[in-house]
Amino acid sequence: MQIILAENCGFCNGVERSVAMAKDAVKTHKRVFCLHPLIHNDAVVRGLGIPVLTDRAELRPEDAVIVSAHGAAPDVYDDVRKSAALIDATCPFVQEIHKKAREYAEKGYEILLLGDKSHVEVIGTAGWCEGHCQILSAPEEADLTRAEKFVLMAQSTYNSDLFDLQAKKICDSARKSKKILEIVKTICYTTIKRQKEVEKMTSECDIILVIGDENSSNTQKLYRIARNNGADAYIISSISDLESVRIENKNNKALGIISGASTPKELIMEVFYRMSEEKVIDSVAEEVKENATATTEVVATPTEEKSESESPKEITMAEGLKRYGASPKSYREGMRLKARVISADVTGISVAIENGGKNDSGFIAKDEAEIDGSYDPANYPADTVLDVIIIPKESGDKKKDINLSKKAYDELKVDDEHVQRILAGEEFTLDRTQEIKGGLLGKIGTYTIFIPASQIKIGFVNNLSDYVNKPLRLKALPPREELDEEGNPKKPRNPKRIVASQRVILEAEKEARDEEFWSKIYVGAIVSGKVKRFADFGAFVSLKYMDGLVHNSDLSWSKRRDIKPADVLEINKVYDFIVLSVDRENGKIGLGYKQLQKKPIEIAQEKYPIGTIVSGKVAKIMKYGVFVELEPGLDGLVHISQIQNSYLENINDAAVKEGDIVNVKVMNYENDKITLSIKETLPVEEVAAPEISAETDVKDVKGKGKGKKVKDEEDEGPHNFVSGGSKVSLGSIFENLNIKTDDDKNE
Ligand code: SF4
Repeated sequence: MQIILAENCGFCNGVERSVAMAKDAVKTHKRVFCLHPLIHNDAVVRGLGIPVLTDRAELRPEDAVIVSAHGAAPDVYDDVRKSAALIDATCPFVQEIHKKAREYAEKGYEILLLGDKSHVEVIGTAGWCEGHCQILSAPEEADLTRAEKFVLMAQSTYNSDLFDLQAKKICDSARKSKKILEIVKTICYTTIKRQKEVEKMTSECDIILVIGDENSSNTQKLYRIARNNGADAYIISSISDLESVRIENKNNKALGIISGASTPKELIMEVFYRMSEEKVIDSVAEEVKENATATTEVVATPTEEKSESESPKEITMAEGLKRYGASPKSYREGMRLKARVISADVTGISVAIENGGKNDSGFIAKDEAEIDGSYDPANYPADTVLDVIIIPKESGDKKKDINLSKKAYDELKVDDEHVQRILAGEEFTLDRTQEIKGGLLGKIGTYTIFIPASQIKIGFVNNLSDYVNKPLRLKALPPREELDEEGNPKKPRNPKRIVASQRVILEAEKEARDEEFWSKIYVGAIVSGKVKRFADFGAFVSLKYMDGLVHNSDLSWSKRRDIKPADVLEINKVYDFIVLSVDRENGKIGLGYKQLQKKPIEIAQEKYPIGTIVSGKVAKIMKYGVFVELEPGLDGLVHISQIQNSYLENINDAAVKEGDIVNVKVMNYENDKITLSIKETLPVEEVAAPEISAETDVKDVKGKGKGKKVKDEEDEGPHNFVSGGSKVSLGSIFENLNIKTDDDKNE
């Protein structure tokens, strides 16, 4: 299988320039920050060691801040200059776009900017339009009512062909709306060249490796063009990504390699070598290792300057290597190799590198042989082929042998198996994470685990740093392909990158708990709950997995209408409640507190048993009797017939008035009401027995008594008075019988 190496690879001029400026900056300034990641390549950014500025307030005048090749809005430049030295690494091409945008804005044009609304370059360019800018991901989004004159521009890395297509659509709309539209194709030359080159490569290649960062816009565009043109395309952002590449030479075509504008040449050559080492292209690998100047199948594609009909021109490997300044025989740390055992002793295993140069030998120290440390030279007879990985040498180790580890290779294999189980749905934990834009990043061996902020917990994560290096229980999420403006998947599936979620675990557990909770809760159940918060209408109570509400009316038996939760309950205190209603559909539970408390009448019954004599205050006088307050909130009725020994026709004639303290006897409890008697506490009056014949009088008396009682009951109003008590005076009997006492006679 041939390898076609694109001519337009490596850093573009804009990136080259910004990286060079960054390297100079670190030499001349103690502290250097960049406004955004300097380029879209993690490895390069990490290598430069320049952090992204997170808080402008921390800047000191001696600091330097680099504006990346993507540029920024004018106020950002001004803002930075106030606090530190500004190093403007904006790509000159992007500066041109800024200039054009401002010119048009000043001439009264509205700028229609095709691009990714969240991309740093697009946000920056929009800032130069003086508020007259519409960022469009599709032509349909253009609002042509907002101005009379428009100019169409684009993000510098926009797809060139797509721009032409979108421009035509917007032209049609402008014509219909009778608006002026100018078109300025602001796609940079490097982008156009690479896009054309990758398109051309798809006619020669089955597989195209686009080397670059997944976050790089131009890398994404190259990848999409390759895919749209039928190639099996892969984005390769690190060597480990090559493991996801499936070599299926369906049409007997070549394997193409191209890169985004932020990809360093070292990575491009490393990819090339790795493809050789993996014996994807056996013949090439052999050639490369034995003779760096031999002609191979590696060819360069024609660039846009070459005629369309021109066939790919073969170049020598030496030419290809010269282009990227790499050496074919360099063994690099992390490289996986096969090694044949020459001999083994107590110190370790001497090996020859399989398919290596004649003198390429390596050594596996005994501690690097087995994961569990159980090294035994007898287990490594000569000629055994081992999978090994190159590890760094100790400083000062001048031995010629390559330092190898079988253990590290096996650990990677263990990681691979672990990840396979993870991908199959197994839960796993991650203790070490770092915060990155939009979530947390962790590692399992060579696998990167990304946990989006939205997948850390149920609900919104306010502060990502709270979760850094805290144990997370995770499950891999199935790959979710987002569509770009062209309707194509935005990012490729990369098995070395796993998106994981703790939230799915928490949600599943919650669902199970909820199910159990709802299946166990029922009206009438007694539950314990902690009072969480008060509202005007009641108190919210946490029932561990669910909240319930105690309405104000279910807080207390008090007759007060203004009863509030704080009068009865305390926040964070645990109480027992009775379940009054269950509405699973709407997740609502009604609770009652008062229902589990004794009613005032029950308390009164215990405190003031029937027959007890107690003093109270006359609270209210009614026509049928008086209410006496035994204690605040606890009233009892003294019926008019129970106020005094003598018959009382009219309540206004009673010897008591509101506010008087009187002795009362508790007569009865019924229907939550207390019946009292003042009369029963008064001294018993002696009355002379009437002179009547026992037989006749008793009958009359009974008849009169009955008649009188019925009348009393009718007059009593809302209260049912029942006479009784442990001590019944003669006076009261007479009264009931309607027999006058001596007092009456005297009157
Ligand atoms: S891709 Fe083009 S616009 Fe972007 S930095 Fe490179 S040269 Fe400049």
